[in-house]
Amino acid sequence: MGALDSAQGRRQAARVALSLVVPVYNEADTVGLFVEKVAQVLGSEEQIELEMVFVNDGSNDDTLARLMDLQALDSRLLVIDLSRNFGKEAALTAGIDEARGDVVVPIDVDLQDPPELVLQMLAKWREGYEVVLARRIDRNSDTWAKRVSASWFYRMHNRMASPKIPENAGDFRLMDRCVVEALKTMPESCRFMKGLFAWVGFRTTQVEYFRQKRVAGTTKFNGWKLWNFALEGITGFSTDPLRVWTYVGMTVSLVSVLFAIFIGVKVLVAGVDVPGYASLMVAVSFLGGLQLMGIGVIGEYLGRTYIESKRRPVYFVRRIYEAKD
Ligand code: UDP
Ligand code: MG
Repeated sequence: MGALDSAQGRRQAARVALSLVVPVYNEADTVGLFVEKVAQVLGSEEQIELEMVFVNDGSNDDTLARLMDLQALDSRLLVIDLSRNFGKEAALTAGIDEARGDVVVPIDVDLQDPPELVLQMLAKWREGYEVVLARRIDRNSDTWAKRVSASWFYRMHNRMASPKIPENAGDFRLMDRCVVEALKTMPESCRFMKGLFAWVGFRTTQVEYFRQKRVAGTTKFNGWKLWNFALEGITGFSTDPLRVWTYVGMTVSLVSVLFAIFIGVKVLVAGVDVPGYASLMVAVSFLGGLQLMGIGVIGEYLGRTYIESKRRPVYFVRRIYEAKD
């Protein structure tokens, strides 16, 4: 009851501490535009006590220098410098671990996630929701291939995994402090954040938006990276790909038995018929392929079990820069 009261209290307070968590990798061209835009739309809001947690994910351009310059002018910036590039999921984890706000919002630096939407999310949060998802109602700014592959991924993932992840919602969402604390207890090193966000649950609603084009710079995700990301999502939240082989095996055995009976009857009726090279080759290579696929799937899971078993930390911080004010 006490916890509930304090959560209610935070919602009704005039001012809310808001942390934006912004992973950045080679974004020297975009960080300035991002800070300017955020300062303009959220910075002057009476109700918001703003913090921008930038996570420099091992950039090798002058992103960090730009961030330092921006921090000198704006004390609301907190900069976490990771020791190398750990990937967006790890960078997000680092930012969420350090964020101090009552509500935390992961957001991309390229302004594809409009900061204005945070105001609508806050309104929903004040109504009592603990998670407010931002759902893209229009993905026209993405390429055709990306839209199609994304829709396939969501369909596959949601058929196999539980809980389902909401379609067309990225990492951009508002989370109450209680959700953040739940996330922080999840120890895995294979981090598919959208899946983890969904897994923790909590009272959820959504707001909708049009996804914009990147303001500057280029995307950091190519097809191969996205494919591996999709594998991470499915293996992290479902064991169906492992289990399906039992049924594939049963079906193939059944078909083989039927085929054996068929051959037996044929021999009895029509006599022995030696040629069969083609069908033999097809059967051998088909079964060989099937077995290798099965082993490959086991390999995917085994590899991830191996990585988890090493219990390495998800990221390393070189240094955290706090504003001197
Ligand atoms: N990002 C990151 N580490 C990486 C790759 C990307 O921190 O290894 C950040 C990037 O700087 C950006 C966000 O993740 O803020 C989204 O990346 P991007 O816009 O390239 O992805 P897209 O919108 O094309 O999916
Ligand atoms: Mg982007």
